[in-house]
Amino acid sequence: MINTWIYSADPNEYDVIRAFKDLGQLDWSMKSNADVNDIVYIYIGYEIKNIAIKTKVIEINPEEFIDDGDYVINIDRMDGDNCGDYIRLKMIDYFDQDKENLMTYELMRDNGLNGPIRGPIKLDNNEQLKGYIELSESKMIKNRIENLKVSDVLTNNQLMYTFKCSNSSGMRRAHKTNTLSIISDHTKALYEDRWIDGIFHYTGMGQVGHQSLDYAQNKVLYQSNDTDIKVYLFEVFEEGKYVFEGQVELYDEPYQEEQTDKNNDIRNVWVFPLKRCNENQDVVIKDNSYKKNKDKKEKKAKKLSDKELLEKAKRARKRSGTRNVNTVVYDRDEHVAELAKRRANGICQLCGQKAPFNNNKGEPYLETHHIEWLSRGGEDSIDNTVALCPNCHKRMHILDCNEDIKKLKKNMKRIVLINQ
Ligand SMILES: [Zn+2]
Ligand SMILES: [Zn+2]
Repeated sequence: MINTWIYSADPNEYDVIRAFKDLGQLDWSMKSNADVNDIVYIYIGYEIKNIAIKTKVIEINPEEFIDDGDYVINIDRMDGDNCGDYIRLKMIDYFDQDKENLMTYELMRDNGLNGPIRGPIKLDNNEQLKGYIELSESKMIKNRIENLKVSDVLTNNQLMYTFKCSNSSGMRRAHKTNTLSIISDHTKALYEDRWIDGIFHYTGMGQVGHQSLDYAQNKVLYQSNDTDIKVYLFEVFEEGKYVFEGQVELYDEPYQEEQTDKNNDIRNVWVFPLKRCNENQDVVIKDNSYKKNKDKKEKKAKKLSDKELLEKAKRARKRSGTRNVNTVVYDRDEHVAELAKRRANGICQLCGQKAPFNNNKGEPYLETHHIEWLSRGGEDSIDNTVALCPNCHKRMHILDCNEDIKKLKKNMKRIVLINQ
């Protein structure tokens, strides 16, 4: 028989919330006869006064204790009555205090709690309170999903707590919330899921061999429009950061595509066209996380053999996807730029060669460049701006080489002298 308890914690002696969040498990001195698999709610007293954490007993008297000394706030307040027995508690949920928490002391007093919470309370002896807590919990879980906004970033734990799903795999079915969370992890994916004209083309489950529509969550997704299962989409561009893309639905029949699998064998995959249930919401990702991802993939492509590369290239999706990337642009002064070009008089300031071509207006084509990059704090000033041929400009950004920088600085001095 599984029992349910409330334990209380003093936030002034020990930072229990942070400890659970960081460590996931804690050893607790046992003042009740809790048993493995029992549920223990942690009530945080004093100025907080609500249940913040739900845990499960996973072990009685563990052989080695978890080191949680970093979380002690006031050792004097800790009661030294080591009663001998300890239980290991694993956090299975966290209830935010900032948002509407229904498990406050006041509300529990209105719903069956008949005194202050000091020692352990066995909820199984208080049906009213137990019922209230269970109802509150399911309301809070429902609210959490409803309150998610497109672009919200969740950790894996938050995702698990929100949807009550497992902590791994790309498609996570949760019966408790009747949801299917789909995760397109661009840091790991074998294949590139993409957005084309507002439709997300998502590759199903199965890393080796042909994929099947009958297989596990592929089937759940395939049938999702005919069931009441809600489907939610997340994309990952940086490890451990799950960007919420909203609730989605199957937009069209899944279709098949040839892709190489984990072992580089060619096989058929199923691609699910998904559409957001609420339109007009687009996620904007940071350009550096996008770039990092791209760089990683380019490195991977470089490592492929010629044969592997050809196989992958042949199976490219042909229609490229689009993405909103948030880029910071430097607002440069047009006078400084124009002056730099005029000063250069059609000659690249690095290689000393004539501009390689004239633009439509017949002017020699040069580009302005900041010797010390604006992104590194360089000034948008006459002294820091040069005009370069496109070749040399690329060279400055790709090689970023000291010799070139020195040369530019030297050439700049000459020009400044001539102009005086
Ligand atoms: Zn040049
Ligand atoms: Zn530049």
